[in-house]
Amino acid sequence: MTNYARFKANGEISYGVVEGDAITKISGSPFQSYDSTNESYSLSDVKLLSPTNPRKVVAIGLNYKSHLGGKPGPAAPEPFLKASTSVIGNGDEIVIPKAAIEEKVKIQPEAELAVVIGKECKGANQGNALDYVFAYTCGNDVSARDWQQNDLQWTRAKSSDTFAPIGPWMTTDLDPTNLQVICRVNGDEKQNQNTSDLLHPLVKIIEYVSAVITLNQGDVIMTGTPGTPGDIFPGDTVEVEVSGIGTLTNPVIAQN
Ligand code: MG
Repeated sequence: MTNYARFKANGEISYGVVEGDAITKISGSPFQSYDSTNESYSLSDVKLLSPTNPRKVVAIGLNYKSHLGGKPGPAAPEPFLKASTSVIGNGDEIVIPKAAIEEKVKIQPEAELAVVIGKECKGANQGNALDYVFAYTCGNDVSARDWQQNDLQWTRAKSSDTFAPIGPWMTTDLDPTNLQVICRVNGDEKQNQNTSDLLHPLVKIIEYVSAVITLNQGDVIMTGTPGTPGDIFPGDTVEVEVSGIGTLTNPVIAQN
């Protein structure tokens, strides 16, 4: 198990390996072969960035029974896209768009296990799907509910800038079928469920999506959210914790 973070220190962006409260810079990217360096920092002295810069984020809707409000689940995974421009990292602000504030749109976080793709993937099957996974991270599929219900597409609801926090780092060698996914708003627990309850498991998601979409190195799959997340407002702090990885923390502000 290795934790890889992308970070900024002394004006320079690098990848590093996180151990405890320290981060040690590596040369190059963890997606390729790399060398360790002797350059180490305290985590509190660096700015963590999103652990990957995905070309796309594929998110899966309606993938926990507890999130369906009594309705039947979809027979197949239900993918949608989040724009790469919606991605932010740990500590970055979730900015509620001015239009959403004016229209009093309900904004909710969605705690999810997020998966980082390691190599180009097209036509995977459930037997080899995990060969394409590099690591796992905490994901927050921030959602503007009224837009989700009333717009023809989910684009504004799911892809507004800052609506895809991921981080704080990505962790290799986890069992994606047994991870606890937790959401807290201002310290109050709102969601808490295990990925063993996913209606469509990760291997099926990868098979289904890669049948039609090429997944690229660094792309992210958000696997769905459990339960009924509460609303968030400017001034709140949202945490997404996934067991074995860590906690992704983001403050919420209003666009001014
Ligand atoms: Mg979601």
